[in-house]
Amino acid sequence: MFDLVESEHLYIHVPFCIKKCRYCDFYSKTDLSLIPDYVTALVQEIRLRSKSIVSQPKGNVATVYFGGGTPSLLGPRHLEAILKALDNAFKLCRQTEITFEANPGTLNDIQLKSLQGMGINRVSLGVQSFDPAQLALLGRIHSADDAVYAVEKVRAAGIENISLDLIYGLPGQTGDHLIRELDAALDLRPAHLSCYMLTLEPGTTLHAMHGRGKFLPMSQSDQVDLFCAVAEYLKARGWDHYEVSNFATHTSLRSRHNCAYWQMVPYHGFGPAAHSYAVKSDTEGSTSYKRFWNAPDLNGYINALKTGNLPASDSETLTLEQRRMEYVMVGLRTSMGLDIKTGQTLWQDRFLTVFQSLMGNLENNGFARLRDAGQRFVLTLEGWMRLDSIITSFIERI
Ligand code: SF4
Repeated sequence: MFDLVESEHLYIHVPFCIKKCRYCDFYSKTDLSLIPDYVTALVQEIRLRSKSIVSQPKGNVATVYFGGGTPSLLGPRHLEAILKALDNAFKLCRQTEITFEANPGTLNDIQLKSLQGMGINRVSLGVQSFDPAQLALLGRIHSADDAVYAVEKVRAAGIENISLDLIYGLPGQTGDHLIRELDAALDLRPAHLSCYMLTLEPGTTLHAMHGRGKFLPMSQSDQVDLFCAVAEYLKARGWDHYEVSNFATHTSLRSRHNCAYWQMVPYHGFGPAAHSYAVKSDTEGSTSYKRFWNAPDLNGYINALKTGNLPASDSETLTLEQRRMEYVMVGLRTSMGLDIKTGQTLWQDRFLTVFQSLMGNLENNGFARLRDAGQRFVLTLEGWMRLDSIITSFIERI
């Protein structure tokens, strides 16, 4: 087993949904009768894996993220068992950011009342849209009223750190329609918004409908116009646009868990299809960087752990080239941008030699700027509008 050094970020994958949404390619199953067996297996996985993890001093977990799937399908007893297992293995503390993803169609009063008492201090609600026609097209199980009700209930349960997910860029959506969607979200006073452009992922219902000519995606230039409309509207209202799709009312309310991903910090994932990232240094001073992930196979996961074995998994050790590519792809998406010093380390002091002219051109065109006394290279909104082609230009030079 790979040692996990400084792993302070934990992800729990809850692979259940009431019904598959038409746009979603995340791993999940609709047979909810397997939830109790899954929880037993998950607790066992946490216990087994934590034994082989060389972690920071216990009590130093920065974030826990319940994602899925639909974590809000777990009842209080199950959540409590999982949190207890995490606490035993890693020692959670009061400062740990514990995010719970919830589908507005699945929250109930008993569960809500227990969340805060269990230490959950951030709820991310998959609202997606306030428009009944768009919710139907996306295949969501809830109404806009359910979303409003869910926000009220989460707040009444004492959790103020609420994030809302919205999807935009559906066929025919206009700028005015999108602003109405944003206004409806802002009326609910969230601390954080994730606004995702609809993408057609292979294997999804929308992708298949597209293949049959039953779904016509929005043109790329219309999508870029909407992206710009969202960014400008929220910026004018004082929101912190800290990643292409993510906005916070204040820098302190950014998702600490997702920021860790974007800074390529190690993290540990539990549950079927969950990914982990580990950095290992050996006694001779060399360091390796490894991703590993459990197989997307719920039954296999449950059966393996029932017999005391870890589930099937796969892994890859990142080459220097892969790490450089990830550094550029992820860094350019965030308002922290590329840290020049880190770049120089990754490129053995050749980062500026390789990229100076490209960076200069982007700056001269208003697509990027240097920040923090030249220590960070950050894309502007104009740059984010051209993100794919800018990333391609960087990668061509790697
Ligand atoms: S979007 Fe969420 S609720 Fe819908 S299928 Fe995907 S994981 Fe499940």
